[in-house]
Amino acid sequence: RIGVVGSISTDFVVEASRRPEQGETVFGDSFETSFGGKGANQAVATARLGADVSMIGAVGDDEFAEHLVTNLQNENINTDAVQNVSGVPSGSAIITLVERDNSIIYVAGANDEVKPEDISKELVKSFDIVLVQNETPVETIEQLIDMCNEVDTPIILNPAPAREMSEAYIAKVDYLTPNESEVKVLFPEETMENILQKYPNKMIVTLGAEGAVFFDGKSHQWIPAVDVPDVVDTTGAGDTFNGALAFGLASGLALEESVQFANLAGSLSITKKGAQAGMPTLEIMREHKEF
Ligand code: ADP
Repeated sequence: RIGVVGSISTDFVVEASRRPEQGETVFGDSFETSFGGKGANQAVATARLGADVSMIGAVGDDEFAEHLVTNLQNENINTDAVQNVSGVPSGSAIITLVERDNSIIYVAGANDEVKPEDISKELVKSFDIVLVQNETPVETIEQLIDMCNEVDTPIILNPAPAREMSEAYIAKVDYLTPNESEVKVLFPEETMENILQKYPNKMIVTLGAEGAVFFDGKSHQWIPAVDVPDVVDTTGAGDTFNGALAFGLASGLALEESVQFANLAGSLSITKKGAQAGMPTLEIMREHKEF
């Protein structure tokens, strides 16, 4: 059983040939809404693979709330711990896609209302692994990490979006999964090599088309991504990677195999538009590799 604590949002996706300058209006080529939020995305990625997933989070009291919860339920995700908070909007992300590269403005809304008291030790104890990102208030994340430590539930922190983090909490998480730009925010002074060596078997850095890397205590394990001929939309690649990593680890795979598994899932996810649409099932994963 996997617990995902995090954001639940609607993505408003605009495609355009270029981004507007300040004060300027440009014509876009397309507009679409899709389900997102790093928490919900990672929960969906994990559930697609067949895991028993519970989401812990919040939606607001606007017209998006019900759709957001129904989408999770349609993916067989338990939503008992998803609250409805009145007086705030549901989370949203305004995503601009220019030449398949995205830039994002994220408005937390109800995602900021997930409080430390909403998470109990009993709940955390019932999970084989917990997955959390940085779109939930920092007090809630820190309490979650402390609780996981207390009841011996492994926890993966995907530090996205990037924010500074204390050494004490880095020490308390079992796995930290920044991408390259998040590494620079977390450790502005250090080289990638030093950071990986400082946190063996914990720090797993995703490298986009290059895959992912970690230090196993003896050497750097660089795990290549899978070559995808037609990249459609990289939104959600990191989320798919993290969801699949949690699934792999909870299934008892070793870290190296779990990272391979996560890379394959992340790579397959970018072949469809929208964060969640391309997330593979275990069946699709097996068409590409024996797991
Ligand atoms: P984020 O989406 O958080 O920026 P990355 O860009 O590092 O994170 O991508 C996460 C994972 O998704 C990578 O480790 C890789 O497995 C997969 N991935 C991302 N981009 C590509 C790509 N162009 N080709 C193949 N795999 C990719």
